[in-house]
Amino acid sequence: MSALPLSTLLLNLHNAAAAAGRPDPALLAVSKTQPAEAVAALAAQGQRAFGENYVQEAVAKIDALAALGLEWHLIGHLQSNKAELAAQHFDWVQSVDRPKLVAALAAHRPAALAPLNVLIQVNIDDEDSKHGCAPEDVPALAAAIDAAPRLQLRGLMAIPAPWPEAERRQQAFARMRALLDTLAAAHPQVDTLSMGMSSDYPEAIAQGATLVRIGTALFGARPRPA
Ligand SMILES: *Cc1c(COP(=O)(O)O)cnc(C)c1O
Repeated sequence: MSALPLSTLLLNLHNAAAAAGRPDPALLAVSKTQPAEAVAALAAQGQRAFGENYVQEAVAKIDALAALGLEWHLIGHLQSNKAELAAQHFDWVQSVDRPKLVAALAAHRPAALAPLNVLIQVNIDDEDSKHGCAPEDVPALAAAIDAAPRLQLRGLMAIPAPWPEAERRQQAFARMRALLDTLAAAHPQVDTLSMGMSSDYPEAIAQGATLVRIGTALFGARPRPA
């Protein structure tokens, strides 16, 4: 997959949303394995939000680019022993999937920073290989996040299975949208449904994604596999 200019990708997002009668989703530029220079180049074109998978790699870029005032999202699996570093550096953590992580992030979010925005990652296709909680675990996890003053519950994130059949992909995205609507009814501040990547973002937007996470379609193939 070759890279699209930022303006073309934004137009694609707009067109997919307009076709579904939905508001434009936010774009998270997934910069894992990309050098800080590539992030800075995209930031110079107006992109503000970037997603990273590996805490240490991200912290180096966050520190190097601090003067740009970018918004950083952790989208990769988070080990509890990295929660302190993550809580100190990120604006959002999208991969919260267990109570222990809620406690660790809440304990380590510095008082000088705004509350950490949190998404609950859901293993929507019940895959052994994927992190994320089961759909039925969302309410208890949401309550725990809500009870933590240093954390702000914003919604849900998922990485559905790459089903070859469009209908199964659509069903997974639709189940996520239904879960989000149920969660938002109980927690009015919830406003974010993070789903859709380079290969499937139009389908995710059609089902109500409010934020898409796009790496390859924006940066081109990653310098090393991730
Ligand atoms: C790498 C990654 C992405 C971006 O994937 P592309 O196919 O390169 O767009 C999105 N979400 C998560 C969780 C990722 O790890």
